[in-house]
Amino acid sequence: MERPASVVKELLDNSVDAGSTMISIDVVNGGKTLIRVIDDGEGMSPADAPLACQRFATSKIRHQRDLSGIATYGFRGEALPSIAAVSRFRMLTARQRALAGTAVVIEGGTVQSVEERGAAPGTRIEVEELFFNTPGRRKFLKTTATEFSHITHVIQQTALANLHTQLRLTHNDHVVFDYPKVAALEDRLLQVYGPRIMAMMLSIQDERTEVHVRGMIVNPNHAKTGRTPQEIFVNRRSVKNTTIAHAVYESYGSFLPKGRHPTFALMVEVDPHEVDVNVHPSKREVKFRSPDLIHRAIKAAVRGPLQKNVVGPASILSPGLEERAPDAVETEKPRQMRMDEPFVKRSAFSGASDVQTGSGRGQGSEAGQVKETPILYPLEPEVQILGQIHATYIVARIGDALHVLDQHTIHERVLFEGLWRGWENRYIQTQPLLIPEPVDVPVAAATPLAEILPELAKVGLDLECFGPASFVIRSVPALVGQMDYGALLEDILEDLSEWNSVDSLDKRIRSVLASVACKGAVQAGRRMEEPEMKRVVLDWFREGSPMTCPHGRRISLRFGSEELHRIFRRL
Ligand code: ADP
Ligand code: MG
Repeated sequence: MERPASVVKELLDNSVDAGSTMISIDVVNGGKTLIRVIDDGEGMSPADAPLACQRFATSKIRHQRDLSGIATYGFRGEALPSIAAVSRFRMLTARQRALAGTAVVIEGGTVQSVEERGAAPGTRIEVEELFFNTPGRRKFLKTTATEFSHITHVIQQTALANLHTQLRLTHNDHVVFDYPKVAALEDRLLQVYGPRIMAMMLSIQDERTEVHVRGMIVNPNHAKTGRTPQEIFVNRRSVKNTTIAHAVYESYGSFLPKGRHPTFALMVEVDPHEVDVNVHPSKREVKFRSPDLIHRAIKAAVRGPLQKNVVGPASILSPGLEERAPDAVETEKPRQMRMDEPFVKRSAFSGASDVQTGSGRGQGSEAGQVKETPILYPLEPEVQILGQIHATYIVARIGDALHVLDQHTIHERVLFEGLWRGWENRYIQTQPLLIPEPVDVPVAAATPLAEILPELAKVGLDLECFGPASFVIRSVPALVGQMDYGALLEDILEDLSEWNSVDSLDKRIRSVLASVACKGAVQAGRRMEEPEMKRVVLDWFREGSPMTCPHGRRISLRFGSEELHRIFRRL
């Protein structure tokens, strides 16, 4: 039981096992203050109720009752007692036709009272102040936004696996979502992910072999750098499984540009005897007795829709190019920036992937030192734009080196550096939008987003809450201009789920600015005029020719005289 979401997961499992058709979940402060789960399931008898919450009381016989369940997900031990041991725990439960119910109160594992009490059929459990008696663990809880996003995630997983149950969630008394029961998986996917994401998805349905596969996978043209959702269900249990994940990645193969990930939700139904649950029952990992069979089935299910849907646009992104890069890629090291091109100053963030690793710190101070000496530009190189190819790459001569530059990543880096300087000087110029832009976000993301509005405002991104899951954008950083605002917020929200309370403001802002730069930068596939290309190459040069965009993708393939001579054997 490491966090509020694990508590929610256990309680939901129990409610589902009890045959509930309606489960309502109320959460206060990301579950740190209160988690309440109310169901209309079979309830517990006055004799069973106190036993279910006490350690060593759950009889093995009771477990044996549902052998098929064990075949799928194994023993999970004693969830209720472990929750009751680390919280203020209250339960009210009544069997379907019982005249009265049972109320049980436990504080930090000590039973306070067991009473008969009037109650609706079903079970209601309240878990208050999780870890109140284990301050060490309480300290490790993340921000409300982070804990809450884990909670919405487990509820959404339960919703995907249980179509016939209604699930309703409130956070701090606001309704976050309410999914009525549905007849088909597609309807549930739509409830959970919303029309915006579903429009980027291909539907999967393959029941040709005994391994049944259903769900959705992202259309590679819309694949992003993030990895959510990547949901795998085996026999209606959310699991982690490398065989299935690997089969999906392999199916995408060169359909995906480097640095992009497939997103998907796959429900796999297979003979329970195929599933080996003795791996890590607690971590929900499963292994298959014949992984090859599963691997083949997944590839067969995923490959068809992928091939049918990918014609043209993805090739703009030249999938696989980077894997086939010539020798020059291997020999290219940062030091070469200085060899025949005058070195101006190092980028404040030239780490390979400063957003993900947050490794920009040490270099930041270095840049700080450089800043004190005046920056001179007399050494600016001659830049000659030779052309643009595939409407994606700029070919240029810089000094006496030949460069092939990715128009998106180079512009992204330039924007990011400009934004970051603005942030460091606490001056980011904003530009109001003539017509404020409405954006809808997934309903579960609205609360976390609302909480960071002040931080976004600090970097010139002014958003206003406009309904339960709607926002309007009023202004954006002047440096960036037009972009796909919906995609921007999606990006920001994805990073947000990884923030935690100890992250510095700088680190959070850095990830926001990286998203802004990415969405504001010229995209692959757009024709550029020569002056525009020259501008961005010069700007990049002035930033110290950093080698990657803030997300770690390559900017330039460089052939200095040395490489050229070597390639043509002129040494
Ligand atoms: P497990 O689910 O592994 O049996 P738990 O500690 O989660 O262990 O639950 C103990 C028992 O309490 C369950 O087996 C079930 O009989 C009963 N129980 C728990 N939650 C509910 C509920 N919401 N409705 C009905 N019975 C429940
Ligand atoms: Mg349980």
